[in-house]
Amino acid sequence: MTNDCVFCEIAAGRGRASIVYEDDLVIGFLDISPINLGHTLIIPRAHASSLAELDEATGRWLFTVAQRTAAAIRTTDLRCEGINLWLADGEAAFQDVFHVHLHVIPRFEGDGFRFAITDRPQPSRSDLDEIAAQIAAAHLTH
Ligand SMILES: [Zn+2]
Repeated sequence: MTNDCVFCEIAAGRGRASIVYEDDLVIGFLDISPINLGHTLIIPRAHASSLAELDEATGRWLFTVAQRTAAAIRTTDLRCEGINLWLADGEAAFQDVFHVHLHVIPRFEGDGFRFAITDRPQPSRSDLDEIAAQIAAAHLTH
């Protein structure tokens, strides 16, 4: 693939990465700027910049490999009392590299990682029902 995507470079074996798993569809390697040690990224080998571009079969396998990676991390000596799976889709969701990647983040009490939100919406039940109906209707078109 001829683009400037750093993850495509890793998938092609040209970029340096500390690999924890690879097969024909996906590759898992350590994040160079980890939240905690063992923080792994699982990516599809084929470039997909967003979830919308990722085929569902690869998406399923991406999640399966992340699930297995989480289990693997838990058996190591790495400090891991919990795991976050995190996928940022779009700039507003903090996506930084525009090649889909699923984070597998080992967590422990007091590690300092947190989500902060101000002005959280307070929907009523009827708001929730209306929103659910919108999303459910959109589901039917897929
Ligand atoms: Zn790419």
